[in-house]
Amino acid sequence: MQDKYVLNCPFCGGTEVIESWQGGYGAVTAVNNKWGGAGLYHSICRNCGSVVRSYVKEPEKLLKKKDRR
Ligand SMILES: [Zn+2]
Repeated sequence: MQDKYVLNCPFCGGTEVIESWQGGYGAVTAVNNKWGGAGLYHSICRNCGSVVRSYVKEPEKLLKKKDRR
């Protein structure tokens, strides 16, 4: 996955996003693996502040070790 990507805000059409990271208590955890967890990243439109995209950088971390690739 590329870090840079073209993105159009569906709300205002803006193309500039600010990447932000939400860790700690905001981390997402898979429902079947309470020990795993990954920080949640947000792409926030610079123009209107909408969260255009939310994602985890390492989705594998949400899986139990034995289930990982
Ligand atoms: Zn926008």
